[in-house]
Amino acid sequence: MRIIKKIDVMRKFSLAEKNKGRTIGFVPTMGFLHAGHLSLIKKAGKRNDIVVVSIFVNPAQFLPNEDFSAYPKDFRKDALICGEESVDVLFYPGRKDIYPAGFSTYVEETSLSKSLCGGSRPGHFKGVTTVVAKLFNIVVPNTVYFGQKDAQQSYIIKRMVSDLNMPVEIKVAPIVREPDGLALSSRNKYLTKGQRAKACFIYKALKIAEKRVKKGERSSAKIKAAIRHVIEANLRGEIDYIDIVDTENLKPLKKLKRKVLMAVAVNVGKARLIDNIILKPGR
Ligand code: AMP
Repeated sequence: MRIIKKIDVMRKFSLAEKNKGRTIGFVPTMGFLHAGHLSLIKKAGKRNDIVVVSIFVNPAQFLPNEDFSAYPKDFRKDALICGEESVDVLFYPGRKDIYPAGFSTYVEETSLSKSLCGGSRPGHFKGVTTVVAKLFNIVVPNTVYFGQKDAQQSYIIKRMVSDLNMPVEIKVAPIVREPDGLALSSRNKYLTKGQRAKACFIYKALKIAEKRVKKGERSSAKIKAAIRHVIEANLRGEIDYIDIVDTENLKPLKKLKRKVLMAVAVNVGKARLIDNIILKPGR
């Protein structure tokens, strides 16, 4: 496995491989890799000749009061993990390479990014789309792998790719969870033992809500209240949002129909935990 830090070296490598007729699968990450990231890497390895993983903690997607400087890092371990997987290149650019002095161009999706996490983290997705667009230009991938864990992000990236005619295919992989249901996240590291033990109630709440939908409940307010009740009864945290949105436009729904995204964000101690389920309730 090669570790590449420079943008021009990365792009040259990719273009040379593509000239040889090879396909490039790309997994962008912020590092501190876990089994969720690995599932994307494995998927990329199955379908592509070359696998590129990037590690870049993107300052542009953190709000001033967020955990940018505290974000967990362990590059040596990440490099070992990638070395054991089917990764050909670990792209590890520096902050000044990605955002040199005078940087002033951003990519912004202006509709899907307004609800859910976009409501409580204004500017977050503008940082995400900007860095992802830059990474696409640098890595020149055929296929890029994202996780359902960040469901809104994957919808926004798909929209960006379509709106801006980017020649890449986006694949979204299922959420990888701990045995008790907690979605794997680099931010789980912030949880104390007590918080960790209770954090599984976020997913349990979503599953209880899913059951109610399967039994016929279609009122968004009632389902959201059920989720809130389970979380508040079991978890000491501050609920940021509980929402049920249409997967077409990510706008909140009063009645469940077609395909919906049920998504939750809860601040537990220092960790902002997000989770979601997609449901097809029918009419
Ligand atoms: P991050 O390093 O948190 O920016 O995540 C990099 C990629 O891994 C994103 O596409 C995430 O959606 C994905 N990812 C993070 N956690 C999980 C998980 N538990 N299961 C599946 N994919 C994940």
